[in-house]
Amino acid sequence: MVDVDNAASEEVVEERKVHEDFSRIDKPFGLEQHVFNWFWLGTAHVFGLYYFYLVIAGKLSTSTFLFELLFGYIAGMGITVGCHRYWTHKTFKANLPLQIILMTMQTMSNQYPIRKWSLDHRIHHKYTDTNADPHNSTRGFWFSHIGWLLLPKHPDLQKKLKTFDMPDLENDPIVRFQSRWYWTLTAIIHFIIPICIFRYFWGLSMIHCIAANYRRYLVSLHITWCVNSVAHIWGDKPYDKNITPAENSWVSFLAAGEGWHNYHHTFPWDYKAAELGWKINPSTMFIDFFAWLGWAYDLKTISQTMLKQRLHRTGNGSHNLQGIDETIFDKDDFDYSVPADVTELMKDCIHQPIWGWDDETIPEDLRNVTKTLRSKGNN
Ligand SMILES: [Zn+2]
Ligand SMILES: [Zn+2]
Repeated sequence: MVDVDNAASEEVVEERKVHEDFSRIDKPFGLEQHVFNWFWLGTAHVFGLYYFYLVIAGKLSTSTFLFELLFGYIAGMGITVGCHRYWTHKTFKANLPLQIILMTMQTMSNQYPIRKWSLDHRIHHKYTDTNADPHNSTRGFWFSHIGWLLLPKHPDLQKKLKTFDMPDLENDPIVRFQSRWYWTLTAIIHFIIPICIFRYFWGLSMIHCIAANYRRYLVSLHITWCVNSVAHIWGDKPYDKNITPAENSWVSFLAAGEGWHNYHHTFPWDYKAAELGWKINPSTMFIDFFAWLGWAYDLKTISQTMLKQRLHRTGNGSHNLQGIDETIFDKDDFDYSVPADVTELMKDCIHQPIWGWDDETIPEDLRNVTKTLRSKGNN
């Protein structure tokens, strides 16, 4: 476990000013976040597990399952595509209608507002597995899965939360609007609409409607948390053997393509969050569809040169080379030498964590070997 106290003290620790739209979310209903979470997540578990009991006991039909799956998947894409790949990592650009759709989908998921989710996640990428990492996986499976939401934050993390700058999101009108009206929007989109649907189409009693909605919520929460816990413990590390995030196809299956976590932490600005775009990756399909419509554009992805160089330098040798452009090298005689066009500066930057495309610490060389797909004007 790395102590970042010293590193943090050398940085500028001036607290950034947080607009009221955002600061009121930091203490929901005046409570410390982790105290509030005991009530919030406790309620979700009690109602969600009660629904499972009703189904197992034969007191409730399972026919709501398909609706829950559909609603849960749309909400999940709000996290994977919207909150994660768009707002947190800036891996592509979106026009206003797509931003509104993604914000609505993210609100369906009820995993806190975009700005708060993104702040935690950028810090997670920048300080992975240190005390400043919100779900530091070196503190064990349960801490990285759910414990981090129920325990007081480590002082190193508190410092980062006060100083980590995100001017792009704090000036984003959609992000500000959502934070300002978060509880109202959540009440309508996350609670009232699905509960009305359960009531109207299945005629469930009100308590059963609430339980059914909570079951969907509970499942989606645990799937999201698996990315922080399971995908930081179990899986292969073909891209960087020095980090905990791993390639986990089960997590990818459940989390719409977010389990290719060794790749994602190695190249967090790639819109696919994986090397092979559509392999167990519905979130990439979603972005590609909207890119085809022209609503998503400037999709960032890794060049073959960058991939090859990184496999050479930090991979654990397990990469089976499938999907790599074979014109670059002979599959049977993989050349691990560093390509000539990779400069010294780029070699040095590979162990410096980067949170995403707009991270100012990305060296220019690395930007130059990143490909941009469907640039505006090329469609
Ligand atoms: Zn990420
Ligand atoms: Zn991670």
